[in-house]
Amino acid sequence: METEKKIIISIDGWSSCGKSTLARQLARELNYVYIDSGAMYRAITLYFLRNHVDWTKPKAVEEALQSISLEFIYNPKSRQSEIHLNGENVEYVIRDLVIAEKVSDVAAVGAVREFAVYQQQQMGKKKGIVMDGRDIGTVVFPKAALKIFMTADKAVRIERRFRELFEKNPNITLEEVRDNLEMRDYIDSHREISPLRKASDAVELDNSNLSMTQQFDIALNWAREKIAGA
Ligand code: C5P
Repeated sequence: METEKKIIISIDGWSSCGKSTLARQLARELNYVYIDSGAMYRAITLYFLRNHVDWTKPKAVEEALQSISLEFIYNPKSRQSEIHLNGENVEYVIRDLVIAEKVSDVAAVGAVREFAVYQQQQMGKKKGIVMDGRDIGTVVFPKAALKIFMTADKAVRIERRFRELFEKNPNITLEEVRDNLEMRDYIDSHREISPLRKASDAVELDNSNLSMTQQFDIALNWAREKIAGA
């Protein structure tokens, strides 16, 4: 029997529209690797904050990046791959609002993007990968077989992110979450290098009124069609 061809699936879109949930589900179903590219930018931001790196200074950024090693390691307990920064599992700390407040500024720095994009492209060499982010279909894998661009109403996205963060921090307010989401969307789509854009060959998935099962079924059908034609 001919073995099924593996493809690259990119999922881009606005903050908090459920990209990582969908990417993870697709990867599990297809037995693909899932890479959360945002986790890389968050881990770099964590390193910069901890080490007081001034990311407006190119030399400081260049030196700091030389000391950063990022790795995704599968955790059988959580059943997902988790990001490690210089050997430390930082999967959970990087979700903090303190990181979310700075990550879009850090991710707009050219040297930071080159550093992350190079590693992301290496991870995709064998295909069989689902990667989510902001520039995956436009810059990281411009030839990805399936490109999904996800959107959802802003109010829906704010509510989802609020519920997620509130579980960990009951002091958080809806305003804080809204401000952060709006700020990140603005910076991510207005930065000079690799701004968030829908690739011309991407399919759009608006999940404002879709259940997780419905959105998964739609995306899985798209993936199966592309795999069959690969
Ligand atoms: O996906 P997540 O919300 O965790 O990403 C955090 C931030 O990392 C985004 O707001 C964006 O600034 C940056 N990012 C990016 N390019 C990617 C993935 C994330 O600039 N491919």
